[in-house]
Amino acid sequence: MIIGEASYLALHQQGELTKRAEGLRQLLSPCRLCPRRCGSLRLEGQVGLCRASEQVEVSAVTPHFGEEPVLTGSGGVGNIFFTHCNLKCVYCQNYQISQAPGEETGKGVVTGKAPGVGERTKATGEVSRAGREKLPEVTGPGQDHHDGQTSVLRAGIGVSCQYQDSVFSLAQGMLDLQLKGVSAIGLVSPTHYVPQIVDALILAVEGGLHLPLIYNTNAYDSLEVLRLLEGIVDIYLPDLKYADNQVANHLSAASGYREISRQAIREMYRQLGSYLWLDETGTLERGLILRHLVLPGDLAGSRDSLRWVAEELSPRVTLSIMSQYYPAYRAAQFPPLQRTVTPEEYRQVVRLAQDLGFRNIFTQEMSSPESYRPDFAKRERPFREDW
Ligand code: SF4
Repeated sequence: MIIGEASYLALHQQGELTKRAEGLRQLLSPCRLCPRRCGSLRLEGQVGLCRASEQVEVSAVTPHFGEEPVLTGSGGVGNIFFTHCNLKCVYCQNYQISQAPGEETGKGVVTGKAPGVGERTKATGEVSRAGREKLPEVTGPGQDHHDGQTSVLRAGIGVSCQYQDSVFSLAQGMLDLQLKGVSAIGLVSPTHYVPQIVDALILAVEGGLHLPLIYNTNAYDSLEVLRLLEGIVDIYLPDLKYADNQVANHLSAASGYREISRQAIREMYRQLGSYLWLDETGTLERGLILRHLVLPGDLAGSRDSLRWVAEELSPRVTLSIMSQYYPAYRAAQFPPLQRTVTPEEYRQVVRLAQDLGFRNIFTQEMSSPESYRPDFAKRERPFREDW
């Protein structure tokens, strides 16, 4: 791996990225992409427990300035907010796209097209004008048809797949973000679309993508998928949401979350360790940042979770302790989730982390619940106007 260069570039040159994509596609239908392993036949028209089909659905593609400063840099993180989620959090701040997609606009779910991403022909032209290579052409003479499926052999993916159009849009979205000067591509809630994401990545690399990939996840991830992502993801940004399985089940329908998330985060730590590689501007190029959202009434089990990180991984792991909780979606029905976190509750968790030996800790202002209120009805700009 070369510092200063996204790791997936080397994998692509070695032909390894294509092999990983093949391995990931094997898990898509029947779907075993996440620990639910619901077995949905996504390539045969079924949707999974997470509601995802074979088409990759994207709710917003936008530079975002509200992430940790080391991620945001000067250009923001180029976030791609995927529709649906493999968790069912009753307080989800992104519930408009994770739990009730389509309702934010009063329309149905948008499929196969990333809102905010330009038409392919137009956007490809923009890529070309800016000096980047065009995306490989996938229409016209380069398109073969087999049994109703579309071959994207000449597009660089190398297999027939039914979700080609949505993958192409996703690749274009990545390149459009790069042209906007973002510091990295942030994949937000990517777990249920990993095969499509890696297929899109291959196209985007051939179109000139070179930015680090951030895997921004709830940590309800399968070990098998994470192993296939080694060397593809440069920055892991997992949540450590709960320490108690009963709470996880009650609030997120996440059976076994404690063990599954810890196993997943242990794997991310194995891949990247605790060191943060920064570029000359102080922006993160590679590393692991572990997020912990403090919940009212200690529903997040902060002491248990942070102690596990300190003892089983390392207190050198960088933490991001978040105060931004506010009662969204169905939270009012689940006391004490009907209120924000008190300053004392938040301070206690930060003090606890310090006492456990953590020194690299991002914290938030207590006013953060006012700032982090996305509205995905505004697809072009779901966050605050000044971000
Ligand atoms: S990602 Fe979705 S479809 Fe796949 S196993 Fe998980 S819940 Fe089922």
